[in-house]
Amino acid sequence: DIRPLVAGNWKMNGTRSSLDQIRAIAHGVSGPLSRKLDALICPPATLLYVATTLTVDTRLMIGAQDCHQKARTGAHTGDISAEMIRDCFATHVIVGHSERRQEYGESNHRVLLKARAAYDQGLTAIICIGETREERAEGRTMEVLHRQLRGSLPDDATAANTIIAYEPVWAIGTGQTPRADEVAKVHARIRADLVARFGEGGETIRLLYGGSVNPGNAKELLGIPHVNGALIGGASLKAADFLSIYHAY
Ligand code: 13P
Repeated sequence: DIRPLVAGNWKMNGTRSSLDQIRAIAHGVSGPLSRKLDALICPPATLLYVATTLTVDTRLMIGAQDCHQKARTGAHTGDISAEMIRDCFATHVIVGHSERRQEYGESNHRVLLKARAAYDQGLTAIICIGETREERAEGRTMEVLHRQLRGSLPDDATAANTIIAYEPVWAIGTGQTPRADEVAKVHARIRADLVARFGEGGETIRLLYGGSVNPGNAKELLGIPHVNGALIGGASLKAADFLSIYHAY
């Protein structure tokens, strides 16, 4: 059985005043449900260290939203390394989010290198994949996902160091989601792809769904076979919304 994960990606949102939300989320996810369910928030890098400090002795895990492909140090102005993330006591890092792929032209190969940098520092990489609206309209969803998986996942990916997030680009921040049967089909294919490549190890890598998950649709989306949790954007910013999704389990 795969332990589900409810994860929040705060993107470029959050200042010190948002720490109240982190506190409230940490409190809310530290009850009995935490025996069968994990919770993670990925605040902006500016809040990473204070967030881990605030959540010591709670069940809320803290992650970063991106890292450089070089694991430790170097002349890379503005970038953050996996070592720096670990140094802040964070445990996870999102890599290859579609916003980074689109805004910074991050290729599958670069995403793979970032995942390796995360592994190098003992972090779990949350590797994002997803088709655009156009690719979907052309019926190329499966082909695109297959290529992204093959190109972005290191050969030494395991259930311990890797989580896959399927985020249809057209569903992000739009309020639109695929139908449950579509998500089921895609996640089953991703699972089959992982098993074909990694054998038994591919059976337990967590597969999250992301894209307009909210308190209203969480129950349906989280109940789909091979959906092992959610990666939540907008609805993770308010503790009440995040916790309502968490309690959909
Ligand atoms: P929304 O939940 O705001 O659609 O964002 C999803 C996402 O991109 C999470 O990484």
